[in-house]
Amino acid sequence: MTILAGVIGDPIAQSRSPRLHGHWLARYGIDGQYMPLHVRKDDLAETLRLLPRLGFAGVNVTIPHKEAAFALSDERTARAEAAGAANTLVFRDGRIIADNTDGLGFVASVQQGAPNWQMDRPALLLGAGGAARGILAGLLAAGLPEVLVANRTADKAVALADLFPGNVRAVPWDRAPDELGGIGLLANTTSLGMTGQPPLEFALDHLPPEAVVTDVVYAPLRTQLLDRAVARGHATVDGLGMLLHQAVPGFEAWFGVWPEVDDALRAAVLA
Ligand code: NAP
Repeated sequence: MTILAGVIGDPIAQSRSPRLHGHWLARYGIDGQYMPLHVRKDDLAETLRLLPRLGFAGVNVTIPHKEAAFALSDERTARAEAAGAANTLVFRDGRIIADNTDGLGFVASVQQGAPNWQMDRPALLLGAGGAARGILAGLLAAGLPEVLVANRTADKAVALADLFPGNVRAVPWDRAPDELGGIGLLANTTSLGMTGQPPLEFALDHLPPEAVVTDVVYAPLRTQLLDRAVARGHATVDGLGMLLHQAVPGFEAWFGVWPEVDDALRAAVLA
């Protein structure tokens, strides 16, 4: 029987997930379909009840449903709890299991794109929104000794740090460039640098040469931040890798194959 999965969001036409999963389905010869599903906020609860009855094995969840889908689930993985949001749902035995693979995807992407990343050094995250929370949880789960968070709205950085007592420290946005000494990873998790947004203006002068610079923005693929980092000789990782790697656990749960993230997948998603 054809296995069904998809991605729910509003809007959804821009999602690259159907192309991504479609590439893997063809590559592994799986009898499956992965479709974009335009679901409005008011229809979310009913849709999640209906999809398993229509034969869906699960769905990815994107903006603006990640928190609501988490709240509507019956079971949550530890990483979904840590992120407070779901990006992957598995329907099993009449129950909705919520997972969040953004942090794992981020870590796997940086590991693949910058194999010399020094994970025994602290990371500095710029931004304290939904993406930052998932990434922060992923970095701590991966064993980083400390993560610093700087955000334009300082209260949000403090609130995020308070969710992970111990190894997370909020630093003022204006003083963040002075905190770069000893950092192993600098990550932009804000929407600055996206097409249509201003670039991220952030001084890199104090960043150690061996530090890795990464951006969650993937449109454009090469942001001004990454270009400036390359010019200084840093290893850089673009935001597309996170999108590709976060998709792996869902594909495995629904279609039964742990798929590979490689250049052919990147090319298929970018085509
Ligand atoms: P969000 O929850 O709305 O958070 C937005 C963040 O950007 C906040 O920290 C916000 O700061 C900051 N920001 C926005 N405009 C700013 C400005 N002019 N100056 C300084 N900071 C500014 O959004 P999100 O869900 O975290 O998404 C953030 C970005 O990550 C988006 O570009 C999204 O496409 C990308 N993303 C990529 C992936 C991937 O797989 N690569 C996955 C998820 C998200 P304030 O709190 O001060 O407003």
